[in-house]
Amino acid sequence: MAEAKPFPLPDVDGPLAPLWQAASQGEFRLPRCQPCGTFDWYPTGECRACHGSDIEWVALSGRGTLFSWAVVKRALHKPLAPIAPYVSAIVVIDEDRKTRFVTRLVDCDPESLHAGMPVEVFFADLGYPAVETGVAAPLFTCRATIERDET
Ligand SMILES: [Zn+2]
Repeated sequence: MAEAKPFPLPDVDGPLAPLWQAASQGEFRLPRCQPCGTFDWYPTGECRACHGSDIEWVALSGRGTLFSWAVVKRALHKPLAPIAPYVSAIVVIDEDRKTRFVTRLVDCDPESLHAGMPVEVFFADLGYPAVETGVAAPLFTCRATIERDET
């Protein structure tokens, strides 16, 4: 039997280094052009609107809405099988309706999901049960879940 491949980790030193660094400190940051305010996501280093290069990674509220999602019933990577079914999602950030972030949605009933549903970031190890990767990832959950837990 073939040995399971290691968990596929992102390049934490590449163009998304500021995203992973911020996540390790519990912050959700994305790059934004300073002169015109356009988000540079996925980062290219050049503003799509004004073609400037004065781009800074800014801290965001971590709030957004669900744009689209897929319920993954058969894990794409074998070590993820214990968490299946899981929800792969695209979130629109509150600060800019044109900026969409691909993530995993957790602690939400897949049957209750709907477009425009309010969601919020939280940070957890990118890994899976029994495997810690040491990489904090910005994941999202339904705001209703958070409000329920706080009562
Ligand atoms: Zn710009």
